[in-house]
Amino acid sequence: MEKVILVINAGSSSLKFSVFELQDTGEMRVRAVGQVEGLGTAPRLKAKDGKGQSIADECWPNSQVANHAQALQEIATLLRSRFAGQVLAGVGHRVVHGGPDYSAPLLVTPEAMDALAAFVPLAPLHQPHNLAAIRAVQAVQPELPQVACFDTAFHRTQDMVGQLYGLPYEYYERGIRRYGFHGLSYEYIAATLPTIAPEIASGRVVVAHLGSGASMCALLNGRSVGSSMGFTALDGLMMGTRPGNMDPGIVLYLLQQDGLSAKEIEDLLYKRSGLLGLSGIGNDMRVLLASDAPRASLAIDHFIYRIKRELGALAAVLGGLDALVFTAGIGENSARIRQLVCEQAQWLGIDLDLAANEQGSARISSAGSRVSAWVVPTNEELMIARHTCKLLAL
Ligand code: AMP
Repeated sequence: MEKVILVINAGSSSLKFSVFELQDTGEMRVRAVGQVEGLGTAPRLKAKDGKGQSIADECWPNSQVANHAQALQEIATLLRSRFAGQVLAGVGHRVVHGGPDYSAPLLVTPEAMDALAAFVPLAPLHQPHNLAAIRAVQAVQPELPQVACFDTAFHRTQDMVGQLYGLPYEYYERGIRRYGFHGLSYEYIAATLPTIAPEIASGRVVVAHLGSGASMCALLNGRSVGSSMGFTALDGLMMGTRPGNMDPGIVLYLLQQDGLSAKEIEDLLYKRSGLLGLSGIGNDMRVLLASDAPRASLAIDHFIYRIKRELGALAAVLGGLDALVFTAGIGENSARIRQLVCEQAQWLGIDLDLAANEQGSARISSAGSRVSAWVVPTNEELMIARHTCKLLAL
């Protein structure tokens, strides 16, 4: 019987899943992708098969599918009917935080769950939902092996100097340090470069993961040596609804002068800032690019400006630059944004091939470009599935 792996990415109001089938060759084939969204408001399950054909589209009253556990029951029912002849060999979860020490995925045990629960204060908006999904699987199938794959793990190769903040040292010991995120995406890119761009795989590469969340990572010989995100996923680049790096004095000002509560500031920083806050229009880059409103252009200009600054900083960390790689929703799909970034990076030696960029080729810099530029689609789910297979020795 063929084996399949379930990959779960649980957010606050959604539960995304993918099903991968293990091939005899060791490769994995995606067999289903879907999500329950609107948890807590208007739950809806949508799923497609590996060819993109719809296999489920169902809505329920909120009282019927109110939480992750109930959403998982619905997903399990769908998967049992679709994959009746196959064996579910394991579940891989995206877990946002692995704390200071976990530099690799972890087999979930009761002890591991205690350790992961200790990181909830470090990622209160994400970690509880990730752990809730693990518990929900345990409740349905307690014997099924589960693997936690961390967004922070790939960055644990960074040296201590880069992970420090200039706070009293005991804060570092308490865990207030730069962790970096989007690690599964960067790990996938680092693992893919030797095949699609061997000439840069062992060099100095900055990867720009530009999606609704956005960050950049400096890779040296495929290992993370720097990242724009820090203690939380608020740091670094401006994003869809997050401001990115800003003077911490602003938070003090909002607390002391405006009398905002911590919850109100959290809402401002996670949900009302970034492209949405600056443009006043929305957080979707497609909408902003199509708009002729002055604040839409202002938001895009600032988005590019921040990438330019971070690129300079990470090139400095690397001691020079051999390549820039674009990935994620905006990075993979927007030729315009890639062009604007590359124009700002000419001083570093990037010479864009306009036609290759428009066509979305893998290499988008000219043949003579001293620093090359690339588009590499990311696949965090496949990275989780690979980790799960490896750890479970499937
Ligand atoms: P992700 O978080 O990686 O799924 O990226 C989602 C974001 O990618 C969306 O918010 C869109 O703004 C952006 N996006 C997707 N397609 C395009 C496109 N063709 N042009 C510009 N932005 C895009």
